[in-house]
Parts: sequence; structure tokens; C-alpha cells
Amino acid sequence: MLNTEKIKFLAFESGFDLVSVSKSFLNDEKLVSNYSRWISNSFNAEMRYLKEYELKKFDAKLVEPWVRSIIWVGVSYFNSSFCERPSEEYGRVSMYAWGDDYHYVVKKMLEDFVIRLKKVGGFEFRYRIFSDSTPIYEKGFGVVSGIGFQGKNTLLISPGKLGSFFFLGEVLTDLDLEPTEPLNFKGCGSCNLCVSSCPTGALAPYVLDARRCISYLTIEYRGIIPEDLALKFGDWVFGCDVCQQVCPFNKFLYIKKLNTKIKEFNSNVTPFLNLKDVLSIPSQNQFEKIFRGKPILRARRRGLIRNAIIVAVNNKARKLVDDIAKLRNDNDEVVAHTARWATEFLSG
Ligand code: SF4
Ligand code: SF4
Repeated sequence: MLNTEKIKFLAFESGFDLVSVSKSFLNDEKLVSNYSRWISNSFNAEMRYLKEYELKKFDAKLVEPWVRSIIWVGVSYFNSSFCERPSEEYGRVSMYAWGDDYHYVVKKMLEDFVIRLKKVGGFEFRYRIFSDSTPIYEKGFGVVSGIGFQGKNTLLISPGKLGSFFFLGEVLTDLDLEPTEPLNFKGCGSCNLCVSSCPTGALAPYVLDARRCISYLTIEYRGIIPEDLALKFGDWVFGCDVCQQVCPFNKFLYIKKLNTKIKEFNSNVTPFLNLKDVLSIPSQNQFEKIFRGKPILRARRRGLIRNAIIVAVNNKARKLVDDIAKLRNDNDEVVAHTARWATEFLSG
């Protein structure tokens, strides 16, 4: 028999830190209407797939008609090391991207988890596993099933356990499982630190305007970054962790150095990128060779070089002017445009 306690035990054995169970649909009017309002305000920027798949977000039966329950798991990627930037010739990488690509790592862990479930349950069942690779509104399901609560920074927060530095994964299954309860927790209270600390003003309480968010702009967005936003990026060359770094619910992780146990997130890490190295990547092919298996691959050569140029400007890294100048006639128009802007800016 697979009861909740047994499921949790097996998930912990597979390396996960958090476990919850939900039904196949999101039965929470507030979460659903907040999400729909977010889309209708165009806060999803150019992530059009979020609108296209809006209905599937709340009902896993629209992904697979046989789904009856979803097992949710969370795994820490926290690493307290490497806070000091080596010099102005380096850019900062969001912590989620320091290690290997979580899509593969979490999926591997989920496969192991399902094997254990089948072995201990003693029967076959239908399933599909995902980690940030399905239209399903993972954050909303995480709230209703009690993985965490949603903070004003819009992230899922697991108070006293993982803070907000964790990946989510899920097993869609045709098993009829008992759902777990939401957390009985008051949430952010009067704290507003993430909203007031966001460098680009992308946050209002519980609402993220992706069009202004450094994470979205440095990772997903492929175009030219407007100067007023670029100058607020600071040294973030890939992603941004400011609204997590300031959050009181993450403080104890830093103090107690509660680093992830998963070696793929903890070894060969890339907390900083050498900007000169990035600026000299000659082609998309070469870029893919360097970042294969790493989340940074997502930005493509165009995005990463554009970001590196912006960080060089923000860091006033004048030693890099010649490297940037060489890119003024790059084949990629976004790179070339950003390089022309930066050379003028740095020599001004
Ligand atoms: S990731 Fe950075 S830019 Fe985006 S909301 Fe958080 S603090 Fe603001
Ligand atoms: S910084 Fe404060 S307001 Fe923002 S998510 Fe954390 S507790 Fe909530």
C-alpha cells in the first residue's frame, strides 16, 4: 500500500527534500484568477507559451487524461559558498545555474523514485515525470499541496526547510492518492524586502512583471536590452537572485551553510563567469560545447555575450573595452548593437 508516509519515505531515499501530493486539478480560485490576471496584464513578456497553455496549467488531465494524482517533490540547490566576486572582470550567475542542468538531474532522481514506488507498492501504474517541462502550474500546485507558500517575490518558499532555493519536480500518476494539506502558515506578513530591493522594479507584492525582470531578460529574452534596464543589471550575467538573497526565509540557509546534498548541483560549480572568456566565444557551436549540460546553455551565445557586455559596462571594466570593440561588427545584430553601445559608453 502506498500511503503518504511511505511515499515521503521513498522520495527522501531518492534524494528529495520535500514531498507532497495533490489531485490532478488546481482547486484554488484565488491562485487561478491571479495567474489569469497576470497573463492578461502581459506580465509574461514574450513567453507566449504561458498564455497558449493557460488551461492546461490548472488541469493535468488536459496533459494526460488518465492522471488522478500528482506527487510533488522539491530538492535543494542551495550553496552558501562563493559570494565574493573575484574582480570587475567577472559576472555573477544565479545559484540555480551553478551546477548541472536541473531538468536532467531532477528527472533522473524522479525515475529512481518511480522505480522505488513500483517495487514497494508491488504493482504497475501509469506515470509521467516532469521538472519545469510541462504546462502545469507547478507553483500553484506546490502551494495547495503544502510544499510551501507563495512569497511576495512570487516564489514558492518552504519555511524552515529549503527557503526558496529548490527545484520542483512531479510524478503524474493514475494512482488515486490522498492529497496533502496546504501549509498552515501566515506567509510574508509586513515584510516587503524583495519588492523594495528588486534592482529593476519588476516586483509588486505577489506580482512579477517579467518584462523588467533581470532573470527573464538575461535568460529568456533574445533581443536588445533597453539602456535604462541594462544599467540596473549590476553584475548579473545570467539570472538574478536578489529577491531571494534578501528574503528572511533564506537567511538560515546562509548562516547554517545548509548546502544541497546533490553532487550534480554542488561540484564543478560556476558561480561567476569570466567576461573576457565569454566575449571571445566565436560561434554558437563553440558556445554549446562550453555549456553543454549546464543551464547557461539556455541563453545562447547571443544572450550571454549581450549580458557580458552589459555587465562589463556596469562593472566599469575598462580593461575589456578592446574585447568589446571587436564585437561591434559581429554577425549577430544584437551582439553588435550592444557592443557599439558599450564602447561608446565606456569610452565616454
Ligand atoms: S529576479 Fe531580480 S529582477 Fe527579477 S524580480 Fe527578483 S530581484 Fe527583481
Ligand atoms: S523578502 Fe519578505 S516579502 Fe519577500 S518573499 Fe521574503 S518574506 Fe516575503
